[in-house]
Amino acid sequence: MSENTHATDIAIVGAGPVGLFGVFAAGMLNMKCVVTDSLELIGGQCTALYPEKPIFDIPGHPSIEAQELIVNLEKQAAPFEPVYLLDQQIMTVEKLDDGSEHGWRLTTSKGSIILAKAIIIAAGVGAFGPNRPPVENLDIYEKSGRVHYLVKRKEDFRGKKLVIAGGGDSAVDWVMSLKEIAERVAIVHRRDGFRAADANVDKLRQWGRDGEIDYVVPYQVKVLHGENGVLSGVEVAHKDESRILEADMFLPFYGLSSKLGPIAEWGLDLDKKHIMVDPATCASNVPGIFAAGDIAMYPGKLHLILAGFSEIEMACHAARDIVFPDTEYKFEYSSAKGVPGTPVPS
Ligand SMILES: Cc1cc2nc3c(=O)[nH]c(=O)nc-3n(C[C@H](O)[C@H](O)[C@H](O)COP(=O)(O)OP(=O)(O)OC[C@H]3O[C@@H](n4cnc5c(N)ncnc54)[C@H](O)[C@@H]3O)c2cc1C
Repeated sequence: MSENTHATDIAIVGAGPVGLFGVFAAGMLNMKCVVTDSLELIGGQCTALYPEKPIFDIPGHPSIEAQELIVNLEKQAAPFEPVYLLDQQIMTVEKLDDGSEHGWRLTTSKGSIILAKAIIIAAGVGAFGPNRPPVENLDIYEKSGRVHYLVKRKEDFRGKKLVIAGGGDSAVDWVMSLKEIAERVAIVHRRDGFRAADANVDKLRQWGRDGEIDYVVPYQVKVLHGENGVLSGVEVAHKDESRILEADMFLPFYGLSSKLGPIAEWGLDLDKKHIMVDPATCASNVPGIFAAGDIAMYPGKLHLILAGFSEIEMACHAARDIVFPDTEYKFEYSSAKGVPGTPVPS
C-alpha cells in the first residue's frame, strides 16, 4: 500500500466537534478512524469562527470556550489513535465492488486515498476555505509557502517581515501577537475602521504613530513581488499612489467561506445543503454512508453541538454492523469498559 493510502474502518469527513467526537464513539466500539478536513486545523466552526466565545450548553460544562472544547475533544479522541489528514478536501467517494474488505475509496484534493469500511459525513456547513483576495501573483507565493491564511505555529514567523491584511478581529489580533516575535509587521486595510475591539485598534494606531509597526491605512494590496517563489515585497495602492512594503510573508485575513462542494455529487439525498438521514441510525440513502452534526437533516433537527454528539454516536453504532458483520454487539458503558491507557480499576 503506498504511503498516501490509508486503510481504516471509518472515514470521517470533517474534523469539527462532531467529527472529533466520532473518533471516540467509534473507538469505544473498537473501530479506527481517518478524519479529514479542508482546513489546516481541526475544530470546524468552533476553531474557525468563534474560538474564544464561551459556549453555555455543553452538558457538564457550565461554560467552556469553543477552542477549549476542541482541545478536550482531541484529547478524548487521542487514545484511539486517529489519523488526521488536514488541509485537504474529500473530492471523490467511490463504492468498490471488487469484494475487498474495504468497501469505499475516498480521494482528497492532495492525492491521499482512504480505504474505509463505512463513511460518516460530519461536514457541517460545508468545506471551509479562506477568502482569497484578488492580488496579482498570489498563487505563486501560495505554492511556495509565503502566503498564510492561518497561523498554525507562531514560531514560523519569528524574525520575519510580515504584511498582514484585513479589517477584522483576526488581522488585528495577529498583528498584536506576531509583533512580539516578527522583525517587522505591517497592517494593511482599505479603510480606517476595523471590525475589532476598539482598545486593540487604538493600540495599533498608536504603534503606527510611534513607528513600532507600519499602519498602512487606507490601502489595498495589489501585487506580490519576488523571485523564484521567494517573496520580497507587497505592493499596496490608494487611489493613484502605490508603494512596496518589504515582506517575507503575506498573511491575508479576509474571513472564511464554506461550500458544500463535491459532497453534492456523491448520490446522497440532499435538502439544500443538508443530507437527509434516518434519525434512528443517521444512515443516508446510500448504504454505508452516514451523516451527523450540522449537515445531517431529519424532522425536528436541532443544529446544536450536543445533538451532533448524539447523532455521531448513533451513526457509529449502526456502522459497527458493517465493520464487524459477524460479531454480536454487546453494549458496555464507558465507565465499565475504560479507554486505552485508562482501564477501569478492577
Ligand atoms: C458564532 C457561533 C456560535 C455558536 N454557538 C453555539 C453554541 O453556543 N452552542 C451550540 O451547540 N452550537 C453553537 N454553534 C453551532 C456549532 O458550532 C455547530 O453546530 C457545530 O460546529 C457543528 O459541528 P460539525 O462538526 O457538525 O460541523 P462544523 O463545525 O461545521 O465542522 C465541519 C468541518 O467539515 C469540514 N468539511 C466540510 N466538507 C469537507 C470535505 N468535503 N472534505 C474535508 N472537510 C470538509 C469543514 O471544513 C469543517 O471544518 C455556533 C456557531 C457559530 C457560528
